Amino acid sequence: MSAIVHARVLDNLVRLRLGHLVERLDTLLAEAARGEPTYLDFLDSLLRGEVDSKQRKRVAMGMTIAHFPSVKMLDEFDFKAQPSIDQRLVRELATGRFITQAENVLLFGPPGVGKTHLAIALGRAVVEAGHSVLFTSATALLAALSRAELDGQLGDKLGFYAKPKLLIVDELGYLPFEKRSAHLFFQLVARRYEKGSLLVTTNQLVGQWGQVFGDDVLAAAILDRLLHHSHALIIQGDSYRLRMKRKAGVLGGASTLQR
Ligand code: ADP
Ligand code: MG
Repeated sequence: MSAIVHARVLDNLVRLRLGHLVERLDTLLAEAARGEPTYLDFLDSLLRGEVDSKQRKRVAMGMTIAHFPSVKMLDEFDFKAQPSIDQRLVRELATGRFITQAENVLLFGPPGVGKTHLAIALGRAVVEAGHSVLFTSATALLAALSRAELDGQLGDKLGFYAKPKLLIVDELGYLPFEKRSAHLFFQLVARRYEKGSLLVTTNQLVGQWGQVFGDDVLAAAILDRLLHHSHALIIQGDSYRLRMKRKAGVLGGASTLQR
């Protein structure tokens, strides 16, 4: 009789898609027999195990979809090395609340100061908070949009980049855009405006965006939408990598070590 009940329980767990419980049922039953938890504690531990497992799977799937170029964590970021960063703002952004308001984040700073590191780490935190994220470099984004336009697929491609709750565009401004590309970027920004968040990293201050986009009017229209509901993180200082090398004595004498 108990074999029949056992089979029925397994069958129902499968129907309810409670995969973690399906896998762990016998172990959990044996543990309960030994520990004799209350009915409520037993139910609580079953449900917690299943919910945790589903969350882990969802995050793993979200991380795959996000296409981060490397693994970077917020707790690996050395804030002391970069005192210009508003750490409180970074921690607030990591809660993912800005996503629900479709607010944007702009990360300004020279090369090597940790912009991409923070972008990936914040993206990860946003995935963990339950939102969809896609990471792309500005160059890859514009190449994909231009190709789609040539193939008559621009609408679909814009739809693809408009879909994630957070789109991270890394390294805007390292290469100036062609006029057509700048217009494609404008279309994407306009499409996401007040619907989904953009996180942009750039080495160019806003005043230089006219040169980046090759057109002051277009740059102003892009900035207008990007900045309307936005948080700005401005990182100053030297490249982190060079500083570490300098510390290790690779790049010169005592005077540089003092910096
Ligand atoms: P950027 O995108 O601003 O050019 P990156 O984020 O690529 O800079 O940083 C360059 C390297 O230095 C990366 O490996 C990054 O993890 C590391 N890095 C930069 N700043 C920090 C920091 N404050 N703490 C820890 N690692 C850092
Ligand atoms: Mg970078």
